[in-house]
Amino acid sequence: MSLHDDVEITSGMQRYIDQNNRYLAERDRYIHEVVKKWKFDTIAVHGLYSVSDAIKDYQGAIIEPIFMSTSQAYADSDEMAAALAYKIPTWCYSRIANPSTYYYEWTLALMEGYGFAGETSCCSTSSGMSAIMTAVTPFLQVKNKADEPCNFVATAQCYGGTFQQFTVRFMQQRNIECRWVLDATNLDEWASKIDKNTRFLYGELPSNPQLGFFDIQAVADLAHSHSLPLICDSTVATPALLRPICHGADIVVQSVTKSLTSSGFGICGAVIARKNLIANIDDEQLKADFSLSVKYLQNRDFGPNLHPVQAVMTLNDMRTLRSKMDLMSRSTMQVAQFLESHPQIESVQYLGLPNHKHHDLASRYMWLVDAEFDEQYGKPVNRYGHLMSFCVKGGAVRARSFFDNLQRIWRATDLGRIKSVATIPAISTHQQQGAAGRAMANIPPNMVRLCVGAEHPSDIIADLEQALDRI
Ligand SMILES: *Cc1c(COP(=O)(O)O)cnc(C)c1O
Repeated sequence: MSLHDDVEITSGMQRYIDQNNRYLAERDRYIHEVVKKWKFDTIAVHGLYSVSDAIKDYQGAIIEPIFMSTSQAYADSDEMAAALAYKIPTWCYSRIANPSTYYYEWTLALMEGYGFAGETSCCSTSSGMSAIMTAVTPFLQVKNKADEPCNFVATAQCYGGTFQQFTVRFMQQRNIECRWVLDATNLDEWASKIDKNTRFLYGELPSNPQLGFFDIQAVADLAHSHSLPLICDSTVATPALLRPICHGADIVVQSVTKSLTSSGFGICGAVIARKNLIANIDDEQLKADFSLSVKYLQNRDFGPNLHPVQAVMTLNDMRTLRSKMDLMSRSTMQVAQFLESHPQIESVQYLGLPNHKHHDLASRYMWLVDAEFDEQYGKPVNRYGHLMSFCVKGGAVRARSFFDNLQRIWRATDLGRIKSVATIPAISTHQQQGAAGRAMANIPPNMVRLCVGAEHPSDIIADLEQALDRI
């Protein structure tokens, strides 16, 4: 970490720095020689929390301890000065860093960077929305009054909260233009929206709830040819099915709240970035290690930090991510096939269905991680996640009647749960953006979003069947 290069180092501080450099060198060795050689499941289960960490520092606790303390005490002023200048690893103050969130960050950095030749790092955030804010804010600097307003280019098919953040908070309140891409599979449309004041490209995939998709590698190449970074919201896929950084993206935002914390215990987020990313702003530190820079500088000042209790609860959920995403994806496929053949259903949108317009594109990118090492499969297999949507025949009133009839499936504005949940986006997640915004994002009023959980799929199908029968 060299975030404050202007600090004068005394010999007392140097003693602590040398000690910690030995520790950091050992950690690097452990990451490269041990952890990076593990399969995905082992990384998800252990992350960077090792037996030796536990024995040395944490009374042998086999689960990462929850550190509730607001701050760390130092042996003397030299250690304090070195820590607060970020010359040694520190838990100085829990808004900035905390041991529990440290393990959460490493697990996510390693999962999202699985299979990527370079290095990744992660900044934990209090929610998915604050992850998006954390990721985009550094690029939207306007340093001189004379500067022309800056802009960015983003997929119109995105989460309702993202639409609000970009439209209201940035466009309306800060004169920062968000240029919406209506057809994200059309590279010319992306290219036509980029000019000299563009700061980054942003894409959500698969998008919530419309399952929009785009060719990550092609959009990343386009971004890089203009010296811009590509930021992806990869919440719906999770790193068990898709890792955008492996395909050229620079930064990934996750609403960790969703499938990564499938138990539904609380809100949390993360920004994961490759080191040495491409951007047209002059901040070398930010480009060298984006996540650490936003964590220790920007977010220290804004304060959207994650609570340590949440960090450890989420770690427990993430350990079984791969097998859960596999199970829930397979069940969703069965549910989608059932709905597709039902006479009361107008259309079904699921990336796993061969007639979905993005099926071929999604099949190039969405693979169950490590399926080739799985006894059951022994070869790569596509998995498309557990989010789907469908439209009920006969319009909004009938869709609501069907929705009200559901008995096993929960009516909730939520997704990614171990329990099946459904919502009507037009009256919930995408209500605030109005009819015109919904039309642009392709959200008809009779659309139901369904996220299939880990129940037996026959029970979910039975619930859908009785709800459709009673419209
Ligand atoms: C839910 C969601 C968000 C926002 O995350 P929170 O954790 O609710 O703040 C962002 N992007 C996508 C795709 C989401 O589904």
